[in-house]
Order: sequence, then C-alpha cells, then structure tokens
Amino acid sequence: MPQPPTSTAIIGAGIAGLACGQALRATGRPAHLFDKGRAPGGRMSSRRLPDAVVDLGAQFFSVRDPAFRHQVGAWQDAGHVATWPDALWQVTETGWQRHRDGVERFIGTPRMSAVTRQLAEGLDVVTGTRIERLEAQDDQWWLLDQHQLRHGPFARVVIAIPTPQAAALLVEHEPSLAEACEAVTQRPCWAGWARFDAPLPSLPGVDDDWQAVRLDHDRMPAVEALRFASRNDHKPGRHDQGESLSLLARLEWSEAHLALDAEAVARQLLEAFRERLPRGVTLPEPSDLGAHLWRYAQPDICAAGEPINLDYRRSSTGLALCGDGWRGPRVEDAWLSGHHLGEALAADTPGSLRDWRLP
Ligand SMILES: Cc1cc2nc3c(=O)[nH]c(=O)nc-3n(C[C@H](O)[C@H](O)[C@H](O)COP(=O)(O)OP(=O)(O)OC[C@H]3O[C@@H](n4cnc5c(N)ncnc54)[C@H](O)[C@@H]3O)c2cc1C
Repeated sequence: MPQPPTSTAIIGAGIAGLACGQALRATGRPAHLFDKGRAPGGRMSSRRLPDAVVDLGAQFFSVRDPAFRHQVGAWQDAGHVATWPDALWQVTETGWQRHRDGVERFIGTPRMSAVTRQLAEGLDVVTGTRIERLEAQDDQWWLLDQHQLRHGPFARVVIAIPTPQAAALLVEHEPSLAEACEAVTQRPCWAGWARFDAPLPSLPGVDDDWQAVRLDHDRMPAVEALRFASRNDHKPGRHDQGESLSLLARLEWSEAHLALDAEAVARQLLEAFRERLPRGVTLPEPSDLGAHLWRYAQPDICAAGEPINLDYRRSSTGLALCGDGWRGPRVEDAWLSGHHLGEALAADTPGSLRDWRLP
C-alpha cells in the first residue's frame, strides 16, 4: 500500500528498532516496522514450552544512562520489568560463592519479551516478513520481502538488524556503509534450556533460592562450555511454572561448536552445569531439552581497542542504521542507539545529523 511521503520503514523489531519507532511516534511521525520473526523482540525473545517460559537471549539488563533509567522506571511502574536477580552466584574452581557487585539488574516480567511487547504497543509492526532487498526509485525506497512483495514507498529506511545482515542490504546502495557494518563482527552464542519435572536438589553451601549463576569470569578456565545458567521459575511472575534452566554457552565455545546439532549442544551445556554442581549432588533427568543458535549474538565492537560509540549511522540518501553493533553489547546500548536515532530523525535538521562518515 502506498505510504505517506514522509514515512519511515524500520527493518528489525528488536529493542533498537522499537525504541526508534517509539521516538518517532512520540513526535507524531509514522513508522512501519518489519520483522522476520513470529513476534517482535529479537535477542530479547523468550520461548514458550508446554508448561514453562524460558529466556533464550538477554537474561537481565543493567542501567547506566539517565534516559534509559527514565524508561526503565516507567516500565517498572507499569509492571513490565522488575529487579532480578537478587540471588546471583558464581562458580570458581573452589566452588559456589554468592556474587555481590552492587549492580542493579532488571528483567521483563512475566518474561523478558514483555519489554519488547510493551514497546511494540501503538506501533505498526509486520512480523513474519524478511526484507531481502532495498530498491531506490524517485528519491524513495521500496522494500522487497521473501515473497518478492514490495512495501513502500518510504522516505527513509532504518536498518535495525545485526551488522552482518545489514551489510547485505546496503552493499548495492551504500558500499561504504556496508563496509562499516562488516567492520563490526557479531559473535555467535548457543543458548540452551532444560526442563525438569522434579525440583532441582538442594546444593550444599548454596541458598535454596539461588536464581542464577555465572561461570564466565577470569578465575574459570576459558575452555569451559557454559558461561551462565538461570532458573526460569525463579524469575518474577513465573513462580507457578515447573523448574527449568536457561544455559548460555561461552562465545568461544559457541564459535568452536557451530556445526553441532541443537540437542547435542543442549546435552553438553547441561553436562557442563552438572559438572559444576557441588560434589555428591545428582541432577534429575530433564523432561525436555533444546538449544538455539544466535548467529549474531554479541557485537565485538571493542576488538579494535576503542568502542566506536557513535550510537548510529546515517547516509544522505535516507538510510540509517541502529542497534547494539553501533554502541555496545547490551540491551541498554541497543535501546539508546535506536532512541537516539529516532530523536535525530524526528528533529531532522542538518545540525542534528551525526553523519556516519564523521570520525
Ligand atoms: C544469548 C544472549 C544473551 C544476552 N544476554 C544479555 C544480558 O544478559 N544483558 C544485556 O544487556 N544484553 C544481553 N544480550 C544482548 C542483547 O540481547 C542485545 O544487545 C539486544 O537485544 C540487541 O537488540 P537489537 O534491537 O540491536 O537487535 P536484535 O534484538 O537482534 O533485533 C533485530 C531484529 O531484526 C530482525 N531481522 C533481522 N534481519 C531481518 C530482515 N532481513 N528483515 C526483517 N527483520 C529482520 C530480527 O528478527 C530481530 O527481531 C544477550 C544476547 C544474547 C544473544
């Protein structure tokens, strides 16, 4: 359907694309979002099992920036997020210890995807639509999806997807912007889950209400498969579901096991967790196991030594890029990237443009 000439298309309805859409909406500018997934959320997705919901992407997020703090405060007041975990543990070679670092962390409630569901409210989000090509025509943009359907025309296109996927859309139109995308590596991560019919056993020396455990610090060997485990039924709003674990692999391990099938990955991650249980503890057999490979899980933007830290990129031809790849590897970075781009597009005066070519 033809769009008003000032309208903006946003490819990707993860937290960055949604934050951008909401910043435009706040100034009355129409934005149309397209996502290849069944629902918005991207790397903040949760998976529904028959009797449990497991978080497969972000497990929690922290807050540093005042604008994000304001947003998180509003979500908290409306019951979409809660602080979690308050019983975080870490495993070292000498066993389990309580991890206290004074950092306040948050989670979506009753599942992580509640945050992006809430952000999608009031926005026009088309799901199940993979944008495969952009076409320029008469200073306007058309989007072509996997069924060769054309969407548009749009005055501007925001690309809010992981940088390697963004590069593929840009190469035909903005080769140097595509090159900037290719310079940001996104590392893969396997995320597994295990569901149990029986409760997990008590762990000697560990409080029964432990909620999550880290294994990814420098006192653990780098060959370790697992970096983080969380108990989904110990998250706010999920106390009535059965026991389940989310099991995140180390990035190095994920890179070395890309070709493994999902069930084998889930078994290895569960085995890695089992090996780190205190001596003498027996884990029940899981009633359900699985894993998801995030091919583009975490941007490696510090690889060159310095974070790029420009928040987003724009071209003079109406294309723009946002997402965690332009700022940092966290939920907060992705939100800020999209929010700042949305504000800049809404203002759209030459002085407000942070052109991607600027150093
Ligand atoms: C396993 C894992 C654990 C993590 N843990 C944490 C954590 O504990 N704390 C934290 O702060 N951060 C964590 N993160 C990082 C955080 O989840 C991301 O930084 C953030 O969600 C990225 O948001 P985004 O909007 O930039 O990208 P995404 O969430 O990836 O959104 C991009 C969207 O674009 C869609 N898309 C892609 N290509 C196309 C296309 N061609 N057409 C249409 N749609 C398309 C995708 O379906 C997706 O919905 C974790 C990430 C992973 C994978």
